[in-house]
Amino acid sequence: MADQAFVTLATNDNYARGAMVLGKSLRNHNTSKKLVALIGPQVSEPCQSVLKRIYDEVRVVDVLDSGDTAHLAMMKRPDLGITFTKLHCWALTHYSKCVFMDADTLVLSNIDELFDREELSAAPDPGWPDCFNSGVFVYRPSMETYGKLIQHCTEHGSFDGGDQGVLNSYFSNWATTDISKHLPFIYNLSSVAIYTYLPAFKQYGGNAKVVHFLGKTKPWSFTFDLKSKQISGNVQDATSHPTFLLDWWMLYSSAVVPMLQQQYGDQPFNSGCVECQYSEMIICESEQSFTHEPAEPQMSSEERKQKWEQGQADYMGKDSFDNIKRKLDTFLK
Ligand code: UDP
Ligand code: MN
Repeated sequence: MADQAFVTLATNDNYARGAMVLGKSLRNHNTSKKLVALIGPQVSEPCQSVLKRIYDEVRVVDVLDSGDTAHLAMMKRPDLGITFTKLHCWALTHYSKCVFMDADTLVLSNIDELFDREELSAAPDPGWPDCFNSGVFVYRPSMETYGKLIQHCTEHGSFDGGDQGVLNSYFSNWATTDISKHLPFIYNLSSVAIYTYLPAFKQYGGNAKVVHFLGKTKPWSFTFDLKSKQISGNVQDATSHPTFLLDWWMLYSSAVVPMLQQQYGDQPFNSGCVECQYSEMIICESEQSFTHEPAEPQMSSEERKQKWEQGQADYMGKDSFDNIKRKLDTFLK
């Protein structure tokens, strides 16, 4: 249906690369909906051109220029700049229903059935499941709602400093009122959940329809070796499942990079792909289980377990997050 659309947002070239991959993933899974990218004025010309090839509509939104309520609100709350920009998606009133998706999400199968849901439908946030995660949500564009959201945002701010805080306090009955507005977690599977509840991930993770690379380190923070199909970078920061990260890079390098190359022509640009440049840390080969030396004096694993259960984890040493994550990675393979 032409009046329904998937909508994303990218205020800079990095998030634009995410939006390109997201758009391609939606197309690859034969969505029948329109694709809309809201972009900030900082997005470069070549990136805008590529987005235009993937998306039906690419709309520059600059809350500072817009001269409307968002602009005025922005002057009072400059800290909420990107939040105001995201709320702009409610102004797309030429669509009757939309699904907003963060630019750091990747679609693994057709998700057009999301349009059967009503505003505001979203999946629980893994950190606080009585809040919804605002990386994927179903909504109805409306100038009235847009105005109210901006007003709410200006008056009450955001309890987490971003759009998720504002949206959760505005749609405050989400947790309790209507279960049909709770999207299954497979529509917004964030990488953190993999590490916090591994057995559930093993049981249900195969049904994932949308992966969300939530958190500080995004897929584009890494580099990818085209020849060996290895991802490299600061493996310490990787909270994503290596397979999903590889899915993202395979799509980006095969479908997006050639378009970027065309647009940039002879101009140099950093695609993040390297050929045959091996880094010392390669995610797909992170076989080494524990790199840290055992803490002195050495403890038996039973003693360590007891200490752990008593809340005396060796967070800076053997029980550091990096070590736990490395261990989990070996299970996940
Ligand atoms: N975003 C953006 N530019 C930024 C930060 C965020 O365009 O500098 C958009 C983008 O669509 C992104 C979304 O806002 O996916 C939410 O931010 P992010 O995904 O970084 O937050 P997280 O999901 O990690 O909490
Ligand atoms: Mn996100």
